[in-house]
Amino acid sequence: MKIVVLKFGGTSVGTINKIKKVAEIIASYKKKNYKVIVVSSAMSGVTNELIKKSFEISKNFSASEHDVLVSSGEQMACSLIAGRLIHRGFKSRSWLSWQIPILTKGAHKNSRINQINKNKIIKYLKEGGIPIITGFQGISDENRITTIGRGGSDASAIMIAKFFKAQRCIIYTDVEGVYTTDPNKLKKAKKLKIISYEEMLEMASLGAKVMQPVSIQDARLNRIDIEVKSSFTKKSGTLITKRSNIISNKIITGITSTQNDSKVSLIGVRDKPGVAASIFKPLSKNLINVDMVVQNISANGKETDLTFTIKTEDLNKTKKIIKSNKNIKFRKLLLKKDVSKISVIGVGMITTPGVTFRMFQSLASKKINIQVISTSEIKISVLIDKRNTKKALMALHKEFHLDNRNRK
Ligand code: ASP
Ligand code: MG
Repeated sequence: MKIVVLKFGGTSVGTINKIKKVAEIIASYKKKNYKVIVVSSAMSGVTNELIKKSFEISKNFSASEHDVLVSSGEQMACSLIAGRLIHRGFKSRSWLSWQIPILTKGAHKNSRINQINKNKIIKYLKEGGIPIITGFQGISDENRITTIGRGGSDASAIMIAKFFKAQRCIIYTDVEGVYTTDPNKLKKAKKLKIISYEEMLEMASLGAKVMQPVSIQDARLNRIDIEVKSSFTKKSGTLITKRSNIISNKIITGITSTQNDSKVSLIGVRDKPGVAASIFKPLSKNLINVDMVVQNISANGKETDLTFTIKTEDLNKTKKIIKSNKNIKFRKLLLKKDVSKISVIGVGMITTPGVTFRMFQSLASKKINIQVISTSEIKISVLIDKRNTKKALMALHKEFHLDNRNRK
């Protein structure tokens, strides 16, 4: 069976007119003789509204009722899509997760899909039907409605593509695809034709809001190709796939920048075992996410400096926690708001020497000071003054020839 999974995000089904358009997209695949499975998110804004209502009822709204409530947005969108397809003469119906069923494991609000029963949907596809399946929701072992985390309908689509062995999984959204860098920050950003799962994971967790990171990891583990494209234009999008499918002459695939980061430095910390742990333990207990961490080598063997970054919204809390921590001694605490993490990402750097040098040199030529550096196999990140973000993006985009399709 030639199955395609089409997933529509909140903005793609955001208004009645858009839903009518979505129905035409679905119809076009049906006409190409695909067996089409549709997965939809809630109309944009609906999930947020529902969450707001739950808070008005109780600050401690029950987690199981939360899932019943917030998953209802998907039910509404799916029935509108199915209704439109029926109106256009197609055989279609909505399927709620429990009707299939889509089984999940784990806690409410944050479950994971682990099994999908295929029988009813396969039968329906064979009869020529177009099933419109609710993203984001499932049912637990106890037959309770669950949800799989914000933005989870991407993951629903990918798991459905996996269980039904779909030939294609297309994520329709409000952007045209994945870009070399954020097109809102840099006009010269170019849409990528193809990107590896690993690079996409880095880009997504560094803030390229194209897909939910968990769903990319699911796609990677299950080797499912994903096409991301806009539901508003006919242009082709970006293919997210395994590295071996990619022939590229680019060393760097994309560049990201963060907003709202702050830098914390502890000067003159005792250099002995357990110190770093005693600093970070209370932070993690308070759910403060620590990102880049560097510790200087200790010149005199007694004292060292420790620097790390956090989100600016956590700055005051972090300051309090460190100051009230009796287990650590330091001479000075330095806090700096308005820093930005700039990262260059590309599997090409594994085999190409000199990327670090080129990055540093190109920032230096623009007189941009590097405050902190961290690297992974396919990524180099530097922390700079936030004022220089655009300048840095421009310089690096040019240095690694992302402005230009054909050069390295
Ligand atoms: N409607 C859900 C949310 O807003 C799921 C999704 O959009 O993917 O988080
Ligand atoms: Mg969404």
